[in-house]
Amino acid sequence: MLELKNVSKIYSTKGETVRALDNVSIKFSQTGLVFLLGKSGSGKSTLLNVAGGLDEPTEGEVIIMGKSSATFTGGDFDSYRNTYVGFIFQEYNVLNEFNVEDNIALALELQGKPKDRQKIDGILQEVNLSGYAKRKINTLSGGQKQRVAIARALVKDPQIIMADEPTGALDSATGRQVLEILRELSKTRLVIVVSHDREFAELYGDRIVELKDGKIISDTSRCTRIPDSTDGNVTKIDEDTLSIKDGSALLGQSLEEVKAFIQGRQGEIFLSRKSSDIEKFRAAGRIAESGGKESFIPTDEEAITQTHSGGAVFIRSKLPAAKAVKIGASGLKQKPFRLILTIFLSVVAFIMFGLFSTMMLYDEDTVMYKSFMNSDNEYITMIKNYQMTYSYETWGGQNSYTSSLSALFSQDEITSLGGANAFGAFDFSVSPANVTSSYNNNYYSCSIYKAACIPQGHSLRNSIVAGSYPSRSDQICISSYLLESIRNETLYGVESDGTVSSEILNVDMQSIIGKKLVLSDNVFEVSGVFDGGDISSEFDVLKTSTDYSSPYYRFRTYIKEGLQSCIFVAESFSEDYAALLSSPSTTSKYYFDTSGTEFYITDSQSFNLNEDGGWYYITNEFKVYGSAQDSYDITYFNGGASSDNGIVVPLNLLAGLAEYKIGDAENVSSYYTDFYKAAVKIINGDYEDESGLADLASAVAENYARLGEEYTTVCFYEEKYDSEAGGYAYNPKGTFNIVGFYTADDEGIYCPQSFYDALTISSTATVTHTNYVQTEDAVYKYMMAPVGNLKTLLGKAEVLDEETDVIYRVSNSLYSDVRSINRTVNQLSKVFLIIGIVFMLFAALLLFNFISVSIGNKTQEIGILRAIGARGTDVFKIFFSESGILVGICLIAAIIGTGILTVVINNILKTELGVAVSVFVLGALPVLLMVAVAAVVAFAGTFLPVFLAARKKPVDSIKSL
Ligand code: ADP
Ligand code: MG
Repeated sequence: MLELKNVSKIYSTKGETVRALDNVSIKFSQTGLVFLLGKSGSGKSTLLNVAGGLDEPTEGEVIIMGKSSATFTGGDFDSYRNTYVGFIFQEYNVLNEFNVEDNIALALELQGKPKDRQKIDGILQEVNLSGYAKRKINTLSGGQKQRVAIARALVKDPQIIMADEPTGALDSATGRQVLEILRELSKTRLVIVVSHDREFAELYGDRIVELKDGKIISDTSRCTRIPDSTDGNVTKIDEDTLSIKDGSALLGQSLEEVKAFIQGRQGEIFLSRKSSDIEKFRAAGRIAESGGKESFIPTDEEAITQTHSGGAVFIRSKLPAAKAVKIGASGLKQKPFRLILTIFLSVVAFIMFGLFSTMMLYDEDTVMYKSFMNSDNEYITMIKNYQMTYSYETWGGQNSYTSSLSALFSQDEITSLGGANAFGAFDFSVSPANVTSSYNNNYYSCSIYKAACIPQGHSLRNSIVAGSYPSRSDQICISSYLLESIRNETLYGVESDGTVSSEILNVDMQSIIGKKLVLSDNVFEVSGVFDGGDISSEFDVLKTSTDYSSPYYRFRTYIKEGLQSCIFVAESFSEDYAALLSSPSTTSKYYFDTSGTEFYITDSQSFNLNEDGGWYYITNEFKVYGSAQDSYDITYFNGGASSDNGIVVPLNLLAGLAEYKIGDAENVSSYYTDFYKAAVKIINGDYEDESGLADLASAVAENYARLGEEYTTVCFYEEKYDSEAGGYAYNPKGTFNIVGFYTADDEGIYCPQSFYDALTISSTATVTHTNYVQTEDAVYKYMMAPVGNLKTLLGKAEVLDEETDVIYRVSNSLYSDVRSINRTVNQLSKVFLIIGIVFMLFAALLLFNFISVSIGNKTQEIGILRAIGARGTDVFKIFFSESGILVGICLIAAIIGTGILTVVINNILKTELGVAVSVFVLGALPVLLMVAVAAVVAFAGTFLPVFLAARKKPVDSIKSL
């Protein structure tokens, strides 16, 4: 069944070539115990390995069941081994991390067969290890381990068993046991044993092949000689040996024969009748039961018939995935401390990566959406602006600026924008005059901001919890929150003429119906109460406090934007009370912009003058320049005269600017310092001794040119608060020079008449452009849409329609909170990216290290697995499952951890900072990124070490054991 033809194996290391096998040809029969004998280095192991498919021949062919190794492809050597050969090694090579049973089962599993308990028990019995199935390997003796290895070789039912010095590490008694077992096995299969023990070989072997320098120098087989003669009782085994079956029955011819035999010997002859001695004699003299004497005679290979019924059919090893995972998982248990540490550190690093990746993959819309969904906002409140471009002539030249102005929604617009459930609300800011506040706490507020006529059939019509929807224009339906607020304060009665009486009314949900509220000098009757929505318990602290800590402002805006501050009115309300519906107001302030100068100033007002458009806030009043000359002692930089574009400022303003300049270390110059010191003296009132003024005068004189040129060019902006836009618009008013200062107390900034006019008379601005046309039916200041419509609304907010100049804006404070956080996060996203990558690399490195080190330590196991038939791919499967499990655990823990942390951090932000924004949103992308990184790490960490180990020829893996 197995034949080697002209096989040579040549090793070349460091230029030296060794012919480990030199043109060896040998045929093996179907069964029997073959010993390969020879001195160390004679090529025994090489012959065994080549014959068993652990190694490939350099020349010649190995023929198994008629199939030549010359025709082998790919993993055929592995498959040959897997199918036909069970290997047994000197060092046992059983896997310590499995018990006896699992070691044996592994060989089955590598063939894709299930773990067959019965079969394993049977085999354990065959090798005298019954009852050892569950024993740990490290509790076994050497002989027991070797028997486990035999059992493992046997369980596949291989037609060939190959053993390389199986008794080498065992004492002779144990070695004998092992050989007994092998001899028993050789009755039904071919067993090839490498040994250097001739005695064992002759005792147990059916055939002895002797090697020297890679060549077969002798090949003998056990042969039983036919006795020279026998009469049934007396057998002449050979010239010198006689056996007598029954000594008492020696008669005639037989007796003669015995006599002649004895006479043929000159000297002592032993006759024994003791069974045990006879046994020993038989063994020593190799006399078979039949009476034939056994001896080794040259093997007649011609007589070995090569049966290869059906030819060679190779079973490719195929380790089922589940087994690979199981083996991989058990491998993980080996270094529990390192494992836990690695998992812990990588999970932490992964979580950090996850958190930072949520920031770097920050999706503004998702954050906005999540934040709204997690907030108390039930309705999105939108306002409408249109854009107007002004151009105007000022003292500084032709200027233009664009401003956002308030516009109103029509019903059609509301429906198309916010969907069927959206409705319009009028701007109606008022507080009931017949409610007086006790200011017990800052939870309740009786302020009304909006009035809405809820359309018939709208779900809000069902939110009425007492009374009914208003049917007349002088009726209103109030929110449950407003009712509570009124109950918390004092409600007075209203006389028929509309004046507030001194009668105190105690109202509840029912009794408020029909009561009157005085709103902007008009008397309204409460027709009903509606449920204004739940208010988060987070604001409950405000019920007992009057402090203005962080939830207060959030609560106020929330109430203002929500339904709580809205009243429901009848359809005729807007027409009958049109005069009450207010229009937006604007306020004006002045700001001082130094961005056009060479100053680098960071002011204390949170405006950053380092950047373009930074602002220096001035509280100073503007006055017309001319009058100052009369009132104050003015120090002019230019030595006296004012100029057309010159302004005079108080010294403290100038000193403040100088201080900023000094604060900028790189640009500190003596003239600023001198000027500043002198200025401070004066400001502090230390100038009485006149030294301050003198210092100042000299500082100004000395540094006149620089002060004039660099220091004093400023630009004025008019700032308008645009309540619709919820922000400030800046309107440049021109560039000026500070031409002088005065030392008296701050009395304002003095400027020329023309500038004063430009500053204060905004009517000089002329409309030059807007496409906006307000239609007749546009009456609503607010559009309120259920928060569920947020996604569609978001797409429409903050986008300028070029054709109409209209911009819709969301006025919920949460929206602007999120937008300002969006801006910050966007600015920081590069930093997040870098930090995230650092953490990711850290996690990757940890895992990579763990995996590659632990797999690097497993070359032994890989060798064993290969020897018992595993292909390279099986080895990959096992170790990929091992690292897959590890990385999987880390990944799942990290994703869960990141998820929990994002919730926790969002909550902390919410409660501690009062930002209701869900800044961290663990979306699909960060998770995918984590999975991808983990997969790459697992692959990279596993592939390289396993590739190097699995690429080795199995024989090399085993040799490195
Ligand atoms: P034995 O098993 O009879 O002791 P081997 O078959 O192991 O001998 O070795 C036969 C010869 O081949 C020896 O000279 C040995 O040094 C050499 N040899 C075996 N394996 C290698 C190898 N991987 N590389 C180089 N030489 C080797
Ligand atoms: Mg050897």
